[in-house]
Amino acid sequence: MPDTPPIFDGHNDALLALRREDETVSDFLAGRDTGDLDLPRAREGGLAAGFFALFVPSGPEFSASDDANRTETDDGYRIERPPPLAGPYARSVVGEMLDAVDELATDDRVRVCRDVDDVRACISGDELGVVVHFEGAEAIRPDCSNFGDYYDRGLRSLGLAWSRPTAFADGVPFRYPSSPDVGGGLTDAGRRLVRRCNDRGVLVDCAHLTAAGFWDVHEVSSAPTVVSHSGAHEVCPLSRNLTDEQLDAVADTGGLVGLTFGASALRPDGGRDPDAPLSVAVEHVDYLVDRMGIDHVALGSDFDGATTLAPLGDATALPDLLRALREAGYSERDIEKIAHGNWLRVLSATW
Ligand SMILES: [Zn+2]
Repeated sequence: MPDTPPIFDGHNDALLALRREDETVSDFLAGRDTGDLDLPRAREGGLAAGFFALFVPSGPEFSASDDANRTETDDGYRIERPPPLAGPYARSVVGEMLDAVDELATDDRVRVCRDVDDVRACISGDELGVVVHFEGAEAIRPDCSNFGDYYDRGLRSLGLAWSRPTAFADGVPFRYPSSPDVGGGLTDAGRRLVRRCNDRGVLVDCAHLTAAGFWDVHEVSSAPTVVSHSGAHEVCPLSRNLTDEQLDAVADTGGLVGLTFGASALRPDGGRDPDAPLSVAVEHVDYLVDRMGIDHVALGSDFDGATTLAPLGDATALPDLLRALREAGYSERDIEKIAHGNWLRVLSATW
């Protein structure tokens, strides 16, 4: 076991990676040859629980990492927003990914977390906690008629849009440098879905929303404002990172920001090359803590979803970040808050 506190992580795409790499749930449990996260590496890195994203890819014709969709500009780049997904396609992919979650749940080393007690049990015990998160709400019908079914299957966290439009909200395109104020806010259906989430105790995640969408959620939602995986716009002016005004709003509601480990969201120059020192991530933590206070900063790695900074290359590197914070002067109490304490508080207030 690492000498650092257990970690709750706000975002990973391991379930997507299994599909992409043609791997199975058994591979995840036994250890994979590829990717960033599996059960053995979670244990080695002290990862106790986290949001496991159910993300529906835009299909072979679109990939955010595909250079065909990327335009280099004088001082950065733009990536085109893919078109909306068809609901039936999204529901079929999400259904398959929920089947994978059910399969994970049959292993006694894994616990699908449906309440805060489940998360606490994972933090104090040996099981790996899986929280079902939808990254983009395309599988949910605009009238919310299937929301309850997904809740029953474990849904506890929901992003209204990934970086593409849905019936509920507009996603922010990947642009550097760029303000997050690109595109529209929530639709009427989006406002209804936020209220529905509040009623059932499902967390609404503002990651990937435009500035307009973020402010709409902030206004409509009665729960703490949460951004599961992002960074500080003042440090790296990516469209997906958060401005000071957004950070202040998150702190005002008692919410949090989970720091992404994605290289292109952390590096001040917006570059994709993951070869950069750990201090690049520490700089974001410093900025977020200075602006919001220690109670509002947490982790949201984006393992298996983004090219992470090389020193945070997979789940076994999680303790290295906490040790770097220790060396930078953070107290053990501060580190525990960043590792899991702040997530626990927000989940308790939300669920
Ligand atoms: Zn994401």
